Amino acid sequence: MAASINGVGGVGFGGLTCSTKTPLPSSRSSSFRVQMSVPVEDKKRNYTLQKSQEAFNAALNLMPGGVNSPVRAFKSVGGQPIFMDSVKGSHMWDIDGNEYIDYVGSWGPAIIGHADDEVLEALAETMKKGTSFGNPCLLESVLAEMVISAVPSIEMVRFVNSGTEACMSVLRLARTFTGREKIIKFEGCYHGHADPFLVKAGSGVATLGLPDSPGVPKATTSGTLTAPYNDIAAVENLFNSNKGEIAAIILEPAVGNSGFITPKPDFLEAIRRLTKENGALLIFDEVMTGFRLSYGGAQEYFGITPDLTTLGKVIGGGLPVGAYGGRREIMEMVAPAGPMYQAGTLSGNPLAMTAGIQTLKRLKAPGTYVYLDRITRELVQGILNAGKKTGHAICGGHIRGMFGFFFTEGPVHNFDDAKKSDAAKFVRFYQGMLRE
Ligand code: PMP
Repeated sequence: MAASINGVGGVGFGGLTCSTKTPLPSSRSSSFRVQMSVPVEDKKRNYTLQKSQEAFNAALNLMPGGVNSPVRAFKSVGGQPIFMDSVKGSHMWDIDGNEYIDYVGSWGPAIIGHADDEVLEALAETMKKGTSFGNPCLLESVLAEMVISAVPSIEMVRFVNSGTEACMSVLRLARTFTGREKIIKFEGCYHGHADPFLVKAGSGVATLGLPDSPGVPKATTSGTLTAPYNDIAAVENLFNSNKGEIAAIILEPAVGNSGFITPKPDFLEAIRRLTKENGALLIFDEVMTGFRLSYGGAQEYFGITPDLTTLGKVIGGGLPVGAYGGRREIMEMVAPAGPMYQAGTLSGNPLAMTAGIQTLKRLKAPGTYVYLDRITRELVQGILNAGKKTGHAICGGHIRGMFGFFFTEGPVHNFDDAKKSDAAKFVRFYQGMLRE
């Protein structure tokens, strides 16, 4: 099972797949970094990670930390990275031949299961025609129509290559449209690694104990204001002390990057009202929640429509895709329709569009989200019951295919609450799950 490290000593999972699945862990700051390692030999189960260890040792010399994305290095959960060889459905096989159940779903994209036959067949067909055109292709319009008809706030969409790119671009767009520079983000929310968002960010930034990354010029974050999640009064104060200066609020409508945290009943509604009253835009970062909480994302699930939305993960069906979209009058400010520049050599790539189209087709089938809800509830309740029965402080929950739990009594409403989770205990849990 792959490690999912979403910010703190709790588990925030990209979510279950509808074919079966589940995810994993998280841990806290560098002070919690654990030396304990996955045993390279576990004689009883004949579990060896010899080849992974050798591969990692070689990779350390080739790539920073031996990986291409920090959380894959397992630093906050101890042990060494496991090199995967293949995936299918809810299962993964490493290069030593060990089999795992993947509770992370490739951190979100694999919502219908890994290497789905229909997706692979469609990719093979598309591939016969080539892998990249550098010109428009029909597949882009097909996926665009699907996204527009599914997501309430999206009247026009622009495809990019990652969630980071989507968030970075949508911020530029909000600033262009409003003529203002400041933004409000919430502590523990992660919106990719673009400079302005590396302020009190969740996900790997938090697990590495990096409150802010070096190399981010102060000027690029000086316009980033932060508030605790679920704290309306804090947001009101920020609007009052920065009158007419705030371009947008960006948030995860249900948080997945500091463990799984849900919005309090009136939180999203109040944020919507405050942005309107103050002439600011509301941006839902649905890179994780999009097509996961429902076919129309968190905005459909909660019934709150933002001005702009970012997407990623699921809409690429396992290939690199991100997207941002929203009201037509705002989107028409994007080049070449409008003045705001944003471009990409591989944006709208035919293979990526194909995987996205096939994945959305599967998700649209009746009953998908009811099924996701049922299996996720079973999983989470099972974990919570087992934890309580054995005397552990534990709390958690789920919405459809997204879930998480914390080793603390709770309730957890924001990043500070989440940090109360027992990260050392989580590591033990994580290691045990991995071995089993
Ligand atoms: N926003 C959210 C809510 C995310 O969860 C992530 C990735 N975990 C991102 C943005 C960044 O996406 P990517 O890793 O594709 O750049």
